[in-house]
Amino acid sequence: AQKEKADAKIEGAVQVAIGIKKEVDFPGWYTSVLIKADMLDYYNVSGCYILKPWSYTIWEAIQEWFNVKIKEMGVENSYFPMFISSKVLEREKDHIEGFAPEVAWVTRAGNSDLEEPIAIRPTSETAMYPYYAKWIKSHRDLPLKLNQWNSVVRWEFKNPQPFLRTREFLWQEGHTAHLTKQEADVEVREILELYRRVYEDLLAVPVIPGVKSEKEKFAGGLYTTTVEGFIPTTGRGIQGATSHCLGQNFSKMFNIIVEDPNSPATATGGEVGKIHVWQNSWGLSTRTIGVMVMVHGDNQGLVLPPRVASIQAVIVPCGITAKTTNEARNQIYDACDALAKDLKKAGVRAKADLREGYTPGWKFNEWEQKGVPVRLEIGPADLKNGQTLSVRRDTGVKAAIPISDVLTAVPQLLETIQSDMYTRAKETYDARLVPVTEWKDVVPTLDNKCVAVLPWCEVEACEDDIKERSGRSAEQTDERAPSAGAKSLAIPFDQSRWPEIKKGETKCPACGKDAKRWTMFGRSY
Ligand code: AMP
Ligand code: ZN
Repeated sequence: AQKEKADAKIEGAVQVAIGIKKEVDFPGWYTSVLIKADMLDYYNVSGCYILKPWSYTIWEAIQEWFNVKIKEMGVENSYFPMFISSKVLEREKDHIEGFAPEVAWVTRAGNSDLEEPIAIRPTSETAMYPYYAKWIKSHRDLPLKLNQWNSVVRWEFKNPQPFLRTREFLWQEGHTAHLTKQEADVEVREILELYRRVYEDLLAVPVIPGVKSEKEKFAGGLYTTTVEGFIPTTGRGIQGATSHCLGQNFSKMFNIIVEDPNSPATATGGEVGKIHVWQNSWGLSTRTIGVMVMVHGDNQGLVLPPRVASIQAVIVPCGITAKTTNEARNQIYDACDALAKDLKKAGVRAKADLREGYTPGWKFNEWEQKGVPVRLEIGPADLKNGQTLSVRRDTGVKAAIPISDVLTAVPQLLETIQSDMYTRAKETYDARLVPVTEWKDVVPTLDNKCVAVLPWCEVEACEDDIKERSGRSAEQTDERAPSAGAKSLAIPFDQSRWPEIKKGETKCPACGKDAKRWTMFGRSY
């Protein structure tokens, strides 16, 4: 009931959306931006949302880019059913233990109960691996590299948040099998690098690549790598995407075995050595879109990075009044139309907004809310001077561009916007990664909306303790807000940002044991 109320509150807020400030009511601001930008609508099943074209095209841009990259790595797309029998789902014990509380079950068809309930996949390891066992008969069948673009269902009871945490979400899940651990290790990092590029190069969102603690790793996996994002307004970390090395846990449970190509049969005619294959799985979801909105959006609405914007430049006719002659008006409209066509030929996703019955101001506002990176205005004076006035969505900076330069200047401007957006966000993230070597500074650091980077002992009990102790003091002001305790977000691969940890000398500020690596601790989504 609490949750239903929270949902109703979110929807209620949407009705009076204009003027919700990002810094004042962040959850209200967020949902309001999504609605105003026409990215999303609510759905009549709690925790599920409709992705409208304005957000779905961003997902398509990510898909297009990522598909090319994984195909270069030899990954092939395929599709497995969404239903998983309870028997196979439960085969890997740690895995099912991790996912059991969130699995949705089909128990009935029409009026009759099913003999055996069937699970809806929360992730597809157990759906796919019985068939990997069947298909992988020899080391020559390796590596096997399949991916699927699909949706999964995790019936989470944590507060749902559009894109960030939904009960059904779109993602890709890659599942690969290798002969050696070394080969699997290399691929884990290659995929993580692609995830980093989705965030940083496409969405202009900085992330930190690292490895998860034992407590936070994927259920049933060997180790989990992550690109960890950060929402400055709330100071919370968010897991951007994960690339897991599953080790041999699943291949042992599902009997995915090949003969060892390097071990000759024993002299006694004994069995040829068998190898359980090494497996990886990796996933990137529509959460990406929510993180992008939260990082870049402002009090005018969405701010789209040019590379994923389905409209990069919108051209708006201006300065037309009751006194304007038809001929003068037509000239302006024609100039807008011609500019859009030329820009499109030059590879810019441009649109001339020639709708009648809307003032320029109304159109400006609409395209600002929708986050279009550049607005180009053409009025009578611009026409006379052979120019257009460009307005950047990210900074509001205006500059006249001669029409003769527009085909080089606009693509350049889009590049500049893309890189400026990344740089600004990166500076903010970097400034909020605060090294902390004394316990007394942990909670104040978190309260300052920062991530506390601790020289950490990597002991699981210490992580539990940090969460408990850091959550105790803070007051929970918003019932929708995620918990106040800090968990480990990632152990960054790049440790060189912080002073060297001296073995036997540097101590964990939480428990006093020897520190191993600098580890990001933060409140999170
Ligand atoms: P996992 O298989 O649990 O590692 O999930 C892969 C990725 O999907 C995570 O790194 C998250 O970024 C994302 N993800 C997990 N749960 C959700 C959810 N409920 N809604 C949207 N994205 C999710
Ligand atoms: Zn410790």
